[in-house]
Amino acid sequence: MSNDRCDIAIVGVGPAGMSAAIVAARLGASVVVLDEQRAADGQIYHAITDAPARRLDLLGPDYAAGRTLAEAFAASGARHLTGAAVWQVTPEGGVHYLRDGAAATLQARRVVLCSGAMERPFPIPGWTLPGVLTAGAAQILLKSVDVVPVEPVVLAGCGPLLYLLGWQYVRAGVPIRALVDTTSMEDYRRALPHLGGALAGWRYLKKGLSLMRVLKRAGVPFHTGAENLVAEGGEGQDGVEALRFTVGGKAHRIETSTLLLHHGVLPNTQFTWSLRAKHKWDDAQLCWQPEADAWGALDVPGIHVADDGLGIGGALAAALQGELAALGAVHALGRLSLGERDRLAAPLRSALREHLRIRPFLDALYRPKKANRIPADEVIVCRCEEVAAGDIRHFVELGCLGPNQAKAFGRCGMGPCQGRQCGLTVTELIADARGVTPAEVGYYRIRPPIKPISLGELAGADRSAA
Ligand SMILES: Cc1cc2nc3c(=O)[nH]c(=O)nc-3n(C[C@H](O)[C@H](O)[C@H](O)COP(=O)(O)OP(=O)(O)OC[C@H]3O[C@@H](n4cnc5c(N)ncnc54)[C@H](O)[C@@H]3O)c2cc1C
Repeated sequence: MSNDRCDIAIVGVGPAGMSAAIVAARLGASVVVLDEQRAADGQIYHAITDAPARRLDLLGPDYAAGRTLAEAFAASGARHLTGAAVWQVTPEGGVHYLRDGAAATLQARRVVLCSGAMERPFPIPGWTLPGVLTAGAAQILLKSVDVVPVEPVVLAGCGPLLYLLGWQYVRAGVPIRALVDTTSMEDYRRALPHLGGALAGWRYLKKGLSLMRVLKRAGVPFHTGAENLVAEGGEGQDGVEALRFTVGGKAHRIETSTLLLHHGVLPNTQFTWSLRAKHKWDDAQLCWQPEADAWGALDVPGIHVADDGLGIGGALAAALQGELAALGAVHALGRLSLGERDRLAAPLRSALREHLRIRPFLDALYRPKKANRIPADEVIVCRCEEVAAGDIRHFVELGCLGPNQAKAFGRCGMGPCQGRQCGLTVTELIADARGVTPAEVGYYRIRPPIKPISLGELAGADRSAA
């Protein structure tokens, strides 16, 4: 075993991880933060530390705000292990990671998981064609290396990130052929009872409306209430050629060589599942969430979760949850009294409540459509092992009850992504086919390695530890 030790190990250096580290280090804990990325940033602030002025301006003030946080993190005294892909966290606080091709272990008294969110799979016919990407992936290209499509793009789906990318593309001069919005009248009706919360979170509402205004003023054609989305490939299926869809029964076909799909983000639960923590199915956000107390502590002693990994709340909420988890962890180490912990937490809790007030409205308005989550038979669900939705329905007919058995029937979820891309679809598909709830069906039994590691790299770890 390596003898690298610390009080608190934080996995992930997005807004939650940075905020947790700043608080824990300020309270005197020895803190190590690990992230597979090369810089302190996470998703929203991707590549913030060395972003040139033009990129800061183009991506907007919410992005630029990340620099202040990154600077505070750099000055916090926390040790930052960049390029460290964590492939296992054990209930005993062992954090196993791969860095520069070498495997190593850090032993922590508490672990705070801040591994963030991932985009929800969007399995429509043709979603695996070259030229079909997620909006988040396209945004990472823009944030990290200023790469944007040259040909006119089509954005399809719903949710704040889709409109934000559209806004950023307009500012970057990227031609947008159409924004195909799946939000329907039914969604507006569902969201209406939550309007009070949305008005209380008026800053977010105002921001969203101003994004839409810019898109409309730029002349981006909107198609609202789109259904039956199909990404159409060419003769040899070399790449996407068009998006087909219907609005109110009328068929549309828009040609494009770049189709960007998005309908929301989900907590990244790979670590919490692998730790065998309790999870619950959240029907409002249509995803799994780990069960945690007010300090993000799981039912696995010594392990906390903070951030979008708990439930989607956005960057500012993630940062507050990071601070709360740090207070909980430092208190558990005996370095902060109960009274002081609660005193420091009080303003954070009230700020968090404010940030989350708009969530029920957003969750209701941008609830991803069943047809875009639970696909038709011919659609590939597990991209790594090429398992189609029809295969999974067939497994159910043969008696398969849940995602773990589906692995045995057809290897789905057993490829390099370890189920990250297909897990949720497989749960919902099986639940739908069996006529039961996702909670009854469960999720993959996630096992390490969470990130790929070769036998040679593992063997190297043993030698250095000997
Ligand atoms: C692709 C994408 C783009 C987004 N863009 C925006 C945006 O522009 N604006 C916005 O308001 N919100 C955006 N969001 C939502 C946004 O992610 C969150 O609200 C916010 O960033 C959450 O912060 P966080 O600290 O929880 O996690 P994140 O910022 O997601 O940070 C998580 C970190 O964990 C690291 N990590 C994960 N797994 C491992 C591992 N096994 N080993 C090592 N490191 C690991 C990642 O590299 C990442 O740096 C985006 C989400 C996604 C998925």
